Amino acid sequence: MAPTYDEIRLAPKVLLHDHLDGGLRPSTVVELAAEVGHELPADSADALGEWFTRAADSGSLERYLETFSHTVAVMQTAESLHRVAAECALDLARDGVVYAEVRFAPEQHLTRGLTLPEVVEAVLAGFVDGSARAAAEGKPIRMGTLLTAMRHAARSMEIAELSVRYRDGGVVGFDIAGAEAGFPPTRHLDAFEYLQRENFHFTIHAGEAFGLPSIWQAIQWCGADRLGHGVRIVDDIDPADRSLGRLAAYVRDKRIPLELCPSSNVQTGAAPSIAEHPIGLLRDLRFRVTVNTDNRLMSGTSMSREMALLCDAFGYGWTELQWFTVNAMKSAFIAFDERLALINDVIKPGYAKLGAA
Ligand SMILES: [Zn+2]
Repeated sequence: MAPTYDEIRLAPKVLLHDHLDGGLRPSTVVELAAEVGHELPADSADALGEWFTRAADSGSLERYLETFSHTVAVMQTAESLHRVAAECALDLARDGVVYAEVRFAPEQHLTRGLTLPEVVEAVLAGFVDGSARAAAEGKPIRMGTLLTAMRHAARSMEIAELSVRYRDGGVVGFDIAGAEAGFPPTRHLDAFEYLQRENFHFTIHAGEAFGLPSIWQAIQWCGADRLGHGVRIVDDIDPADRSLGRLAAYVRDKRIPLELCPSSNVQTGAAPSIAEHPIGLLRDLRFRVTVNTDNRLMSGTSMSREMALLCDAFGYGWTELQWFTVNAMKSAFIAFDERLALINDVIKPGYAKLGAA
Protein backbone atom coordinates (compact mmCIF):
# COMPACT_ATOMS: atom_id res chain seq x y z
CA MET A 1 0.00 0.00 0.00
CA ALA A 2 1.41 3.37 -1.02
CA PRO A 3 1.62 5.89 1.82
CA THR A 4 -1.14 8.49 1.69
CA TYR A 5 -0.61 12.22 1.99
CA ASP A 6 -1.99 12.20 5.55
CA GLU A 7 0.36 9.38 6.54
CA ILE A 8 3.31 11.14 4.95
CA ARG A 9 2.54 14.21 7.06
CA LEU A 10 3.29 12.08 10.13
CA ALA A 11 6.66 10.89 8.81
CA PRO A 12 9.82 12.76 9.85
CA LYS A 13 11.08 14.74 6.86
CA VAL A 14 14.20 16.74 6.03
CA LEU A 15 14.19 19.77 3.77
CA LEU A 16 17.39 21.31 2.37
CA HIS A 17 16.11 23.64 -0.34
CA ASP A 18 13.35 26.06 0.61
CA HIS A 19 13.24 29.83 0.03
CA LEU A 20 11.93 32.05 2.81
CA ASP A 21 10.46 34.52 0.31
CA GLY A 22 8.86 31.62 -1.56
CA GLY A 23 7.04 30.13 1.39
CA LEU A 24 4.83 32.83 2.90
CA ARG A 25 1.26 32.09 3.84
CA PRO A 26 -1.01 33.89 1.32
CA SER A 27 -2.93 35.38 4.28
CA THR A 28 0.31 36.83 5.64
CA VAL A 29 1.15 38.42 2.29
CA VAL A 30 -2.31 40.04 2.25
CA GLU A 31 -1.96 41.38 5.82
CA LEU A 32 1.58 42.67 5.45
CA ALA A 33 0.80 44.27 2.08
CA ALA A 34 -2.10 46.18 3.65
CA GLU A 35 0.24 47.46 6.39
CA VAL A 36 2.80 48.85 3.97
CA GLY A 37 0.41 49.85 1.17
CA HIS A 38 1.80 47.40 -1.37
CA GLU A 39 -0.59 46.66 -4.21
CA LEU A 40 -1.24 42.96 -4.83
CA PRO A 41 -2.71 41.23 -7.91
CA ALA A 42 -5.52 39.75 -5.72
CA ASP A 43 -7.28 40.85 -2.51
CA SER A 44 -8.19 37.66 -0.69
CA ALA A 45 -5.76 35.05 0.59
CA ASP A 46 -7.35 32.29 -1.51
CA ALA A 47 -7.33 34.29 -4.72
CA LEU A 48 -3.76 35.40 -4.07
CA GLY A 49 -2.60 31.85 -3.43
CA GLU A 50 -4.10 30.83 -6.78
CA TRP A 51 -2.52 33.81 -8.52
CA PHE A 52 0.93 32.77 -7.29
CA THR A 53 0.64 29.18 -8.52
CA ARG A 54 -0.84 30.30 -11.87
CA ALA A 55 1.92 32.85 -12.47
CA ALA A 56 4.53 30.29 -11.49
CA ASP A 57 2.99 27.73 -13.87
CA SER A 58 3.90 29.81 -16.93
CA GLY A 59 6.89 27.64 -17.77
CA SER A 60 9.65 30.23 -17.69
CA LEU A 61 12.16 30.68 -14.88
CA GLU A 62 12.22 34.44 -15.44
CA ARG A 63 8.44 34.74 -15.08
CA TYR A 64 8.57 32.45 -12.05
CA LEU A 65 11.13 34.72 -10.40
CA GLU A 66 8.87 37.75 -11.04
CA THR A 67 6.33 36.50 -8.50
CA PHE A 68 8.90 37.21 -5.79
CA SER A 69 8.55 40.97 -6.22
CA HIS A 70 5.32 40.73 -4.19
CA THR A 71 6.68 38.63 -1.34
CA VAL A 72 9.94 40.54 -1.09
CA ALA A 73 8.00 43.84 -1.02
CA VAL A 74 6.28 42.85 2.24
CA MET A 75 9.49 41.60 3.90
CA GLN A 76 11.29 44.89 4.45
CA THR A 77 11.01 45.43 8.22
CA ALA A 78 12.43 43.49 11.15
CA GLU A 79 8.89 42.72 12.38
CA SER A 80 7.70 41.33 9.05
CA LEU A 81 10.88 39.25 8.57
CA HIS A 82 10.52 37.88 12.09
CA ARG A 83 6.89 36.97 11.49
CA VAL A 84 7.53 35.30 8.13
CA ALA A 85 10.44 33.30 9.55
CA ALA A 86 8.48 32.20 12.62
CA GLU A 87 5.51 31.11 10.48
CA CYS A 88 7.88 29.27 8.14
CA ALA A 89 9.36 27.20 10.98
CA LEU A 90 5.89 26.50 12.38
CA ASP A 91 4.40 25.52 9.01
CA LEU A 92 7.28 23.16 8.24
CA ALA A 93 7.08 21.57 11.69
CA ARG A 94 3.31 21.06 11.37
CA ASP A 95 4.00 19.27 8.07
CA GLY A 96 6.34 16.89 9.91
CA VAL A 97 9.65 18.41 8.85
CA VAL A 98 12.19 17.74 11.62
CA TYR A 99 15.17 19.48 10.07
CA ALA A 100 15.08 22.32 7.53
CA GLU A 101 17.58 24.59 5.87
CA VAL A 102 15.74 27.70 4.71
CA ARG A 103 17.50 30.27 2.56
CA PHE A 104 17.01 33.92 1.74
CA ALA A 105 18.96 36.78 0.17
CA PRO A 106 19.63 39.50 2.77
CA GLU A 107 20.41 42.05 0.04
CA GLN A 108 16.77 41.93 -1.11
CA HIS A 109 15.43 43.23 2.18
CA LEU A 110 17.10 46.62 2.41
CA THR A 111 14.61 48.94 0.69
CA ARG A 112 13.16 50.34 3.93
CA GLY A 113 16.45 51.03 5.62
CA LEU A 114 17.41 47.76 7.32
CA THR A 115 21.11 46.86 7.30
CA LEU A 116 22.32 43.42 6.24
CA PRO A 117 23.01 42.29 9.86
CA GLU A 118 19.57 43.56 10.95
CA VAL A 119 17.92 41.47 8.24
CA VAL A 120 19.83 38.34 9.25
CA GLU A 121 19.16 38.84 12.96
CA ALA A 122 15.41 39.35 12.39
CA VAL A 123 15.14 36.10 10.44
CA LEU A 124 17.28 34.11 12.88
CA ALA A 125 15.15 35.37 15.79
CA GLY A 126 12.01 34.44 13.87
CA PHE A 127 13.26 30.89 13.34
CA VAL A 128 14.05 30.57 17.05
CA ASP A 129 10.58 31.85 17.90
CA GLY A 130 8.82 29.59 15.40
CA SER A 131 10.81 26.53 16.50
CA ALA A 132 9.89 27.20 20.13
CA ARG A 133 6.20 27.46 19.20
CA ALA A 134 6.47 24.24 17.19
CA ALA A 135 8.14 22.42 20.09
CA ALA A 136 5.34 23.61 22.38
CA GLU A 137 2.88 21.96 19.95
CA GLY A 138 4.84 18.72 20.24
CA LYS A 139 6.42 19.15 16.78
CA PRO A 140 10.11 19.88 17.35
CA ILE A 141 12.05 21.19 14.37
CA ARG A 142 15.72 22.11 14.01
CA MET A 143 16.11 25.12 11.69
CA GLY A 144 19.29 25.95 9.78
CA THR A 145 19.70 29.13 7.76
CA LEU A 146 21.44 29.61 4.42
CA LEU A 147 22.31 33.09 3.18
CA THR A 148 21.87 33.54 -0.55
CA ALA A 149 23.68 35.98 -2.83
CA MET A 150 22.08 36.92 -6.15
CA ARG A 151 23.91 35.69 -9.25
CA HIS A 152 23.38 38.91 -11.22
CA ALA A 153 24.52 41.19 -8.37
CA ALA A 154 28.00 41.94 -7.09
CA ARG A 155 27.56 41.42 -3.37
CA SER A 156 28.49 37.76 -3.04
CA MET A 157 31.70 38.42 -1.10
CA GLU A 158 29.81 40.62 1.38
CA ILE A 159 27.10 37.97 1.83
CA ALA A 160 29.72 35.25 2.21
CA GLU A 161 31.38 37.24 5.00
CA LEU A 162 27.99 37.80 6.60
CA SER A 163 27.34 34.04 6.56
CA VAL A 164 30.60 33.31 8.35
CA ARG A 165 29.94 36.09 10.85
CA TYR A 166 26.66 34.42 11.88
CA ARG A 167 27.87 30.80 11.70
CA ASP A 168 27.48 30.32 15.43
CA GLY A 169 24.11 32.07 15.46
CA GLY A 170 22.21 29.76 13.14
CA VAL A 171 23.63 30.36 9.65
CA VAL A 172 24.89 26.99 8.43
CA GLY A 173 25.68 27.70 4.79
CA PHE A 174 25.78 29.96 1.76
CA ASP A 175 24.10 29.79 -1.67
CA ILE A 176 23.82 31.72 -4.90
CA ALA A 177 20.54 31.96 -6.78
CA GLY A 178 18.84 33.79 -9.62
CA ALA A 179 18.67 33.38 -13.40
CA GLU A 180 21.48 31.06 -14.54
CA ALA A 181 21.83 32.10 -18.18
CA GLY A 182 24.57 34.71 -18.58
CA PHE A 183 25.53 34.66 -14.89
CA PRO A 184 27.94 31.77 -14.36
CA PRO A 185 28.87 30.95 -10.77
CA THR A 186 32.53 31.63 -11.58
CA ARG A 187 31.66 35.35 -11.39
CA HIS A 188 31.61 34.80 -7.63
CA LEU A 189 34.81 32.81 -7.32
CA ASP A 190 36.33 35.07 -4.69
CA ALA A 191 33.37 34.42 -2.38
CA PHE A 192 33.62 30.65 -2.79
CA GLU A 193 37.37 30.68 -2.23
CA TYR A 194 36.89 32.76 0.91
CA LEU A 195 34.28 30.29 2.23
CA GLN A 196 36.58 27.35 1.60
CA ARG A 197 39.38 29.08 3.53
CA GLU A 198 36.88 29.54 6.36
CA ASN A 199 35.92 25.83 6.36
CA PHE A 200 32.34 26.86 5.58
CA HIS A 201 29.66 25.09 3.56
CA PHE A 202 27.88 26.20 0.40
CA THR A 203 25.48 25.05 -2.24
CA ILE A 204 24.97 26.63 -5.66
CA HIS A 205 21.79 26.81 -7.75
CA ALA A 206 23.03 25.09 -10.90
CA GLY A 207 21.68 22.82 -13.59
CA GLU A 208 18.07 23.98 -13.28
CA ALA A 209 17.32 25.96 -16.44
CA PHE A 210 20.86 25.61 -17.68
CA GLY A 211 22.86 22.53 -18.52
CA LEU A 212 26.04 20.70 -17.72
CA PRO A 213 28.51 23.62 -17.95
CA SER A 214 26.73 25.27 -15.05
CA ILE A 215 26.95 22.12 -12.92
CA TRP A 216 30.59 21.56 -13.90
CA GLN A 217 31.51 25.12 -12.94
CA ALA A 218 29.66 24.91 -9.62
CA ILE A 219 31.56 21.77 -8.63
CA GLN A 220 34.93 21.96 -10.31
CA TRP A 221 35.56 25.71 -10.25
CA CYS A 222 33.60 26.86 -7.23
CA GLY A 223 33.79 23.76 -5.01
CA ALA A 224 30.08 23.48 -4.18
CA ASP A 225 29.21 20.94 -1.46
CA ARG A 226 25.75 20.42 -2.96
CA LEU A 227 23.85 21.30 -6.14
CA GLY A 228 20.71 23.41 -5.90
CA HIS A 229 18.54 21.35 -8.32
CA GLY A 230 21.34 19.87 -10.46
CA VAL A 231 18.58 18.10 -12.38
CA ARG A 232 20.27 18.64 -15.77
CA ILE A 233 22.95 16.16 -14.71
CA VAL A 234 20.74 13.73 -16.67
CA ASP A 235 22.11 15.34 -19.85
CA ASP A 236 25.31 13.43 -19.05
CA ILE A 237 23.54 10.08 -18.78
CA ASP A 238 22.92 8.00 -21.93
CA PRO A 239 19.17 7.34 -22.08
CA ALA A 240 19.70 4.10 -24.03
CA ASP A 241 22.00 2.20 -21.67
CA ARG A 242 22.08 4.51 -18.63
CA SER A 243 25.85 4.85 -18.84
CA LEU A 244 27.33 7.89 -17.11
CA GLY A 245 29.54 10.55 -18.66
CA ARG A 246 32.55 11.84 -16.75
CA LEU A 247 30.70 14.61 -14.91
CA ALA A 248 27.70 12.49 -13.95
CA ALA A 249 30.06 9.76 -12.74
CA TYR A 250 31.97 12.30 -10.66
CA VAL A 251 28.79 13.65 -9.07
CA ARG A 252 27.62 10.15 -8.19
CA ASP A 253 31.03 8.84 -7.06
CA LYS A 254 31.58 11.83 -4.77
CA ARG A 255 28.04 11.52 -3.40
CA ILE A 256 27.36 15.18 -4.26
CA PRO A 257 23.81 15.84 -3.05
CA LEU A 258 21.20 16.91 -5.60
CA GLU A 259 18.57 19.22 -4.11
CA LEU A 260 15.74 18.17 -6.44
CA CYS A 261 12.47 20.10 -6.35
CA PRO A 262 9.93 18.19 -8.46
CA SER A 263 6.96 20.60 -8.62
CA SER A 264 9.18 23.65 -9.03
CA ASN A 265 11.08 21.95 -11.86
CA VAL A 266 7.82 21.22 -13.68
CA GLN A 267 6.71 24.84 -13.27
CA THR A 268 9.95 26.27 -14.62
CA GLY A 269 10.07 23.76 -17.47
CA ALA A 270 13.14 21.90 -16.18
CA ALA A 271 11.01 18.72 -16.25
CA PRO A 272 7.89 18.04 -18.39
CA SER A 273 5.88 16.42 -15.55
CA ILE A 274 6.37 14.75 -12.19
CA ALA A 275 6.10 11.32 -13.83
CA GLU A 276 8.80 12.26 -16.34
CA HIS A 277 11.00 14.00 -13.76
CA PRO A 278 14.58 12.67 -13.84
CA ILE A 279 14.31 11.95 -10.11
CA GLY A 280 13.14 8.43 -11.03
CA LEU A 281 16.25 7.70 -13.09
CA LEU A 282 18.59 9.43 -10.64
CA ARG A 283 17.19 7.41 -7.76
CA ASP A 284 17.50 4.15 -9.72
CA LEU A 285 21.13 5.01 -10.37
CA ARG A 286 21.67 5.82 -6.68
CA PHE A 287 22.71 9.42 -6.97
CA ARG A 288 22.56 11.26 -3.63
CA VAL A 289 19.00 12.43 -4.35
CA THR A 290 17.06 14.64 -1.94
CA VAL A 291 13.46 15.88 -2.28
CA ASN A 292 12.69 19.55 -1.68
CA THR A 293 9.95 22.17 -1.96
CA ASP A 294 11.87 25.17 -3.36
CA ASN A 295 8.95 27.64 -3.12
CA ARG A 296 5.93 26.37 -1.24
CA LEU A 297 3.78 29.41 -2.04
CA MET A 298 4.50 29.50 -5.79
CA SER A 299 4.08 25.74 -6.14
CA GLY A 300 1.19 25.48 -3.67
CA THR A 301 3.13 22.64 -2.06
CA SER A 302 4.75 21.17 1.04
CA MET A 303 7.28 18.42 1.76
CA SER A 304 4.45 15.95 2.32
CA ARG A 305 2.82 16.91 -0.96
CA GLU A 306 6.08 16.54 -2.92
CA MET A 307 6.58 13.08 -1.44
CA ALA A 308 2.97 12.09 -2.11
CA LEU A 309 3.33 13.19 -5.75
CA LEU A 310 6.43 11.01 -6.09
CA CYS A 311 4.66 8.03 -4.50
CA ASP A 312 1.85 8.44 -7.06
CA ALA A 313 4.16 8.86 -10.03
CA PHE A 314 6.82 6.26 -9.22
CA GLY A 315 5.09 3.86 -6.84
CA TYR A 316 7.42 4.76 -3.98
CA GLY A 317 6.72 3.52 -0.48
CA TRP A 318 8.14 4.11 2.97
CA THR A 319 11.49 2.58 2.08
CA GLU A 320 12.10 5.16 -0.65
CA LEU A 321 10.78 8.03 1.47
CA GLN A 322 13.11 7.05 4.28
CA TRP A 323 16.01 6.80 1.81
CA PHE A 324 15.34 10.36 0.53
CA THR A 325 15.11 11.59 4.11
CA VAL A 326 18.31 9.95 5.28
CA ASN A 327 20.07 11.20 2.14
CA ALA A 328 18.99 14.74 3.00
CA MET A 329 20.01 14.45 6.62
CA LYS A 330 23.44 13.10 5.62
CA SER A 331 23.81 16.08 3.27
CA ALA A 332 22.81 18.79 5.77
CA PHE A 333 25.28 21.50 6.72
CA ILE A 334 25.07 20.98 10.50
CA ALA A 335 27.70 18.97 12.40
CA PHE A 336 28.11 15.24 11.82
CA ASP A 337 27.11 14.25 15.37
CA GLU A 338 23.89 16.26 15.13
CA ARG A 339 23.04 14.71 11.75
CA LEU A 340 23.68 11.23 13.11
CA ALA A 341 21.53 11.88 16.17
CA LEU A 342 18.60 13.00 14.01
CA ILE A 343 18.97 9.94 11.75
CA ASN A 344 19.21 7.43 14.60
CA ASP A 345 16.92 9.01 17.18
CA VAL A 346 14.23 10.63 15.04
CA ILE A 347 14.19 9.55 11.39
CA LYS A 348 14.77 5.79 11.56
CA PRO A 349 12.44 5.21 14.54
CA GLY A 350 9.81 7.40 12.83
CA TYR A 351 9.82 5.40 9.62
CA ALA A 352 10.07 2.08 11.48
CA LYS A 353 6.84 3.00 13.24
CA LEU A 354 5.20 3.69 9.87
CA GLY A 355 6.36 0.40 8.43
CA ALA A 356 9.49 1.19 6.41
CA ALA A 357 11.66 -1.83 5.63
ZN1 LIG B 1 15.81 27.43 -5.29
